Amino acid sequence: MDYKIQISGLAQGKHDYEFPVKGDFFKEFGNSQIKDAALVAKVVLDKGSGWMNVSCNVVGTILTECDRCLDDLEIPMNFTADIAVKTAKLGEEIESTDEFLIIDPSDGELDLKQFIYDYICVNVPLKKEHEEGGCNPKMLKKLEELKVVEVAQEGKEFYAPFGNLDKLLKEAEKKKK
Ligand SMILES: [Zn+2]
Repeated sequence: MDYKIQISGLAQGKHDYEFPVKGDFFKEFGNSQIKDAALVAKVVLDKGSGWMNVSCNVVGTILTECDRCLDDLEIPMNFTADIAVKTAKLGEEIESTDEFLIIDPSDGELDLKQFIYDYICVNVPLKKEHEEGGCNPKMLKKLEELKVVEVAQEGKEFYAPFGNLDKLLKEAEKKKK
């Protein structure tokens, strides 16, 4: 799957493209945090005379791991990124690579792969957890057992490798009472 848009000879105006983004996409980047994905990148390329803008709307879901129970967690995504495309020859002074996508004018195409990847990664929430009470109780129990074993092995003071989990269990206990 490539994420290239042929820009040489492209007429002025708006052009629509759709690129599917699946789990393999992230494997290629060596990203193991995103285990699977069912996303679509809807790209609108607006070409004027001497300028180009790319608007990219990413919609769908990614599959990752819950930080609390380590079970699968599906996260919905829907965000739009806009970026100006500038042409610059290799070695030419360029102002910023953050706000612009730079392409060599001799390149007849625009490769959006890195751009799409970066924007998806930026939009993955920092806190990746099931909703309160939505964690897998079996996984939580297993983790709790593991923790008990670790505590016994450590022979030290309380050892909590899963900080959030501990908090959650305490809350659950409170609710029981
Ligand atoms: Zn969870």
